[in-house]
Amino acid sequence: MVESPEQCVKHLIEDLIKRWLIEKDQNALIDKLSDQCSWINEDTNRILMTKKEILQFFEEYYVTLYDKLNICFIKDLIVRAAGNQAVVIIEIPICYDAQTAKQIQTSLMFTMILQKENKVWKILHLHDSLTSGKEYKNREIDAQQTVSEREKLASQTDSVTGILNMDGFCDRVSQLLKKNNQRYVLIKFSIKDFRYINLRYGYSMGDIVLQNIGKNLDQSCMEEETCGRIEKDMFAMLYKYKNKRDMSERLEEVRKRLLDKNLLYELGIQIDFIAGIYIIPKSRREHIKDMLDKALMVLQQVDRHQNGSHYLYYDDNMMKKQIFHHQIIRHASTALKNEEFQLYIQPQFDIGSCEVIAGEALCRWEKEKGVFIAPDEFIPLFEDYGVILELDFYMLRKLCEKMWEWMQAGRIIKPISINQSRLHIEKEDYIEEFCKVVDEYGIPHHYIAFELTESVFVEKYEHMIKLAKELHEKGFQLSIDDFGTGFASLNLLSVVSADILKIDKNLLDSIHTKRGKTVLQKVIELAHQMEMKVICEGIEEREQLKELQELGCDWGQGYLVGKPIPAEEFEKIWIESVQEVT
Ligand code: C2E
Ligand code: CA
Ligand code: CA
Repeated sequence: MVESPEQCVKHLIEDLIKRWLIEKDQNALIDKLSDQCSWINEDTNRILMTKKEILQFFEEYYVTLYDKLNICFIKDLIVRAAGNQAVVIIEIPICYDAQTAKQIQTSLMFTMILQKENKVWKILHLHDSLTSGKEYKNREIDAQQTVSEREKLASQTDSVTGILNMDGFCDRVSQLLKKNNQRYVLIKFSIKDFRYINLRYGYSMGDIVLQNIGKNLDQSCMEEETCGRIEKDMFAMLYKYKNKRDMSERLEEVRKRLLDKNLLYELGIQIDFIAGIYIIPKSRREHIKDMLDKALMVLQQVDRHQNGSHYLYYDDNMMKKQIFHHQIIRHASTALKNEEFQLYIQPQFDIGSCEVIAGEALCRWEKEKGVFIAPDEFIPLFEDYGVILELDFYMLRKLCEKMWEWMQAGRIIKPISINQSRLHIEKEDYIEEFCKVVDEYGIPHHYIAFELTESVFVEKYEHMIKLAKELHEKGFQLSIDDFGTGFASLNLLSVVSADILKIDKNLLDSIHTKRGKTVLQKVIELAHQMEMKVICEGIEEREQLKELQELGCDWGQGYLVGKPIPAEEFEKIWIESVQEVT
């Protein structure tokens, strides 16, 4: 395949850097200089107008400097080529051992103009500058390193931040743990809402933020500590450990210095982190990646929605819980095949007469005979792993099957609402698939109500407006579940046209306070103005029922009238046969 001019220049420059700067072969550069070449060197402020001047300058100054440069890899190489001209911008991270013998890490920037002379690319102009050098504690580099050592270093360095990458970090941690008997913690550390920074300010700003955080984390490390960027917005640190109080002060310092002031000012937002901390046991027998996994497990349990930075420590119970969760997920598809999930129905009643008029379908998982797993244990997990999509349709089939049996037996069918996960609503053919199942059993659509939790209406309200319209066109009812648990405001009621408002148990539980009662009253009033029916969940006491009657709530659901029971029992108790009615 013929190379494009850009690829050709790229390979040429990569080869040049390798021979000239890594293998220290000066002639490799001299060969490539055009006779008309000029050079601006920012370090010395020298402007050299001819190749001869350049060579002289080289002998006096550059050879000694470049001998000390420790170059491992090219960080950025931008090439633009058109016709006989090309422009190249290169950034090369370097470490050099200045007179002080301090290890300084910085970047060497080259801007080159190339020109084709007799079909051969030559450098016509070269501009080089050093970006301001910072001392990096992590890197143990000296100018005497062999090529293979430098290659190893390159492979262990993160190209965005210049600190260690995953491999480098693990290597360094293992050295440090072998070297001394210090107590250490391993911290997995991630930037809160980093996606937002990328989306709002662009990826190049995202990289600058990561670089700055990398530098500051690196500077937070003391002797015999280390840090690295191990993936995307995830960093890891190995810190010495005294006690939790000391660690908390240290992390507060890290939080304060996470970003340089000028960058913070430019961004205009506070950057926080979340972290999972694993206190490395004295035995130190584990593999580092296993320790990192434990720190990650904790990190996943940190509440991202809390204000400020937040972290947790690992404990063995978390591991047990995690193993249990994995078992659940591993077993899910077999459980669906084995029909371990059962349809339960909880009655819904008229607030005034307590007559049962409808029901809510709820799922129960009977893992073994008589051993049930509560929905709160598996529904959130099923949502995380997407299994919920299958389970919801499985439950819908079970419900339709039951309703079909009622119709076949000539019983009076009652409307049943069914819980649907937020994961469905962005799927193109969701309603179509849903209708297909319902129609397969010939269930009239108005007997089925969709329950979607309040937060979906808030977070995806544009989708919800569309979905509500589609559902109504098909003749289904839509219900806003768990109202009062999240951030939904009354305003929501006017934005999405739902049919039923389900007040959550938490909101009901505040009915004994004056404030709570007023809120409930206003919610009910407004819902009625929007032509919605109001159902209140979790009614356990007569007192609550009486209050709700006074407030004009329409329907109720709760243990006072009936708990969720197997569909067969619900049928026996609450579904009348036609004969009984006539
Ligand atoms: P939900 O939709 O809010 O369901 C109402 C929950 O309140 C049910 O819990 C019900 O048993 C409980 N409950 C009803 N009356 C009372 C009462 O008087 N007192 C108390 N303390 N609780 C009462 P359950 O069955 O454990 O379900 C929990 C959640 O799991 C449901 O909350 C729903 O969000 C979800 N879920 C259940 N089945 C399914 C399903 O098939 N698909 C989906 N996507 N989610 C489901
Ligand atoms: Ca529900
Ligand atoms: Ca609910």
